[in-house]
Amino acid sequence: MFRKFSIVLAAMCCLAKASNAQQPCSTDQQYWESVKKYPQILDYERQFEAQMAGITAHGIPGVAAKITLSPNDTTTFDVPIVVHVVHDYGVEYLADDVIYNAVKYWAQVYLAQNADTSMAIDPFKKYVGNARIRLHLATIDPNGKPTKGVVHDRSYLTTNADDQAKYSQWPQNKYINVWFINTFGAASTGAAAYAYYPSSAAFMPYYDGVIGLYNYVDYEKAIPHEIGHVLNLQHTWGNNNNPGVACGDDQVDDTPPTEGHNPGCSAAALYDVTCAGGYLKHYTSVLGADSLVDYPDTTNAQNIMDYTYCQKMFTIGQCVRMRTALTSATAGRNNLITPANLAATGALAPMPDLPPVADFSIERATGAGIITDARTVFLSLGSGGNFNFKNRSWNDTISDVVWTFSNGATTPTSTTNGTVFNKFSVPGWVTVSLIANSNAGSDTLTTTPVYVADTVAAGGFGYYQTFSNPAALANWPMFNYFSNQYKWGAYTGASRDGDNGCIRFRSFDTTQKRIATPLGDHDDLFTPSLNLSGLSGNVYLNFYTTAAAANSGGVSTPAGDSLEIDATNNGGLRWTKIAAFTRGQLVNNGIKSTEFVPTASTPWVARAVVIPATYFTSSTFFRFRYWAGSTGNNFYMDDFNIGGFPADVAEIAKSAESFKIFPNPTNNGCNLVLRSGSEGVVHYSIKDITGRVVYEANETYSPDMLIQQPIAREITPNSGIYFVTVTIDGNAHTEKLVVY
Ligand SMILES: [Zn+2]
Repeated sequence: MFRKFSIVLAAMCCLAKASNAQQPCSTDQQYWESVKKYPQILDYERQFEAQMAGITAHGIPGVAAKITLSPNDTTTFDVPIVVHVVHDYGVEYLADDVIYNAVKYWAQVYLAQNADTSMAIDPFKKYVGNARIRLHLATIDPNGKPTKGVVHDRSYLTTNADDQAKYSQWPQNKYINVWFINTFGAASTGAAAYAYYPSSAAFMPYYDGVIGLYNYVDYEKAIPHEIGHVLNLQHTWGNNNNPGVACGDDQVDDTPPTEGHNPGCSAAALYDVTCAGGYLKHYTSVLGADSLVDYPDTTNAQNIMDYTYCQKMFTIGQCVRMRTALTSATAGRNNLITPANLAATGALAPMPDLPPVADFSIERATGAGIITDARTVFLSLGSGGNFNFKNRSWNDTISDVVWTFSNGATTPTSTTNGTVFNKFSVPGWVTVSLIANSNAGSDTLTTTPVYVADTVAAGGFGYYQTFSNPAALANWPMFNYFSNQYKWGAYTGASRDGDNGCIRFRSFDTTQKRIATPLGDHDDLFTPSLNLSGLSGNVYLNFYTTAAAANSGGVSTPAGDSLEIDATNNGGLRWTKIAAFTRGQLVNNGIKSTEFVPTASTPWVARAVVIPATYFTSSTFFRFRYWAGSTGNNFYMDDFNIGGFPADVAEIAKSAESFKIFPNPTNNGCNLVLRSGSEGVVHYSIKDITGRVVYEANETYSPDMLIQQPIAREITPNSGIYFVTVTIDGNAHTEKLVVY
């Protein structure tokens, strides 16, 4: 386990920002977790170390790293890199210039050109190494297209990031990939960044690279530290995440043994001698003359692979180790530096001047300000709210923009380079077009990202939607916020009611990829405006569902799918959750390893949600929000209706063969729902568990009517099981009632 550094250490720290109260690096935590899961990584590691030992040549005088290239090794290695900004338009949306500047600095560090190398304390001045590695943002992407080496990927994974957030990886044997995200998920909570050693990367190439919090892009030497791991450097105290605990070594001679240090540039850390006293290395030369090297008896707390954040240097031995990694085939590191790869990635070419990539983000706002209800981009004509469209174009300095908006926008055209505010007078999907211009060209993005709902009600009490008529779905807008395969859609291949029409949320991973879990993705389906004014008592939002899971994953794990239903009585400005269903509640068809499609005999489950009275308004909308999980299979929904009975009770209306009790179990009375039969005479009998009759009555109704007969709690005063028998037209039916 890694530890967060304490308040005391943070206060002493000369460099760490208050907002950076993070453990610098979780590389070793990830490493040990991976080794636990995939012990084969250790095989790769042994092979790699053997290869490196094989590279041993003559030893560098005074350094004598046991793994060295030729002492005359003065080549500079060039390495292409790509930076991915994984964002959801939040603070993590790093501007390109911030990245260009950061990469320049990382490159300086790898050429020992960072000005603060001169601040290395005396014992280490002569061990300051120059890695002679030139980092270059690529100018050609994997498809052969020109690039500036920075890409922006919109993803929900930015706020729950782990290896999955690396779905946009460029080939790792051609580029060092670096991702920036907003927040790490549970596996790396509290870390600022992490990377994989070459041996792990050889086993899991699709996770190879550096991933870090956006605010560490240019913080101290956080990213050069991680690139050190990519090039096989360990922490100065060894490959664990516990600095300050036990003396350790990093397989590099000129970094003396150390316990390592937590963040903080204290004098105690800087001149720490723990573990390093009397540090000597003894070598037997193949030429016959033995040598003894006396390294500093002080720890190298200024080392970039320590956690102090007063990092100034790599040692010569570390540079040899990194350069050796770049000459090894393990994880294809040696391909990075080949002339062919440098040509293919355009690493040595100057950064091209490229046209911008047009992009914008959207928020909803009232006069009082931005509504932070995440991604909902739905408002009704009557809501009074704005849609705010913010220019997010990137890849070049934007000289000017041209916006156009459909649907009777208050600002149908604009050249505003910032945010444009709009209300719309025509309902439906709004077409937005943004042209972004720069000195190098222009780019146009045209899309229909927001929906303006008509306030004219599509129905009210008794509204019934079978989803069989595509035209009827026109006012049921569906949003796929991240434009991926996990989404709502009309489905004509199955139904509950035999009309071959229903709604599907496709949650099955049809690509069967290992990466890009949908966990964290959610998409919305909205009802049309419903007029519920003047209603009272119990009114139910009814629908039927059927669903399966793709794998076990535990029925209530966070990795499962879930459904949430929200309501608004102010046209979409504010939404309130009125019901939620977990994976365990949704899945009624077990686990299917293939994509789940209901057949005629597939069971469907009736769902009934009591609509709170606050939504008995003339324009109420409901929102179905589906959270896709990593264990999901498809979910289907059919026969949405608004009525006075729960869905399964309403079924009684279609048959006279039984009756329903609801709610059941109950602690406050219940209702019996039945059809009165051809004579209209109904006999009721309720017995307790001992068989004692606690209630008996005959009632006469009009024939063949749907009846709701209340049973007061007083009739069944004790908690326990009762048997309710209803006799209609001489036929007795018995159901169990649970009172608590
Ligand atoms: Zn580290």
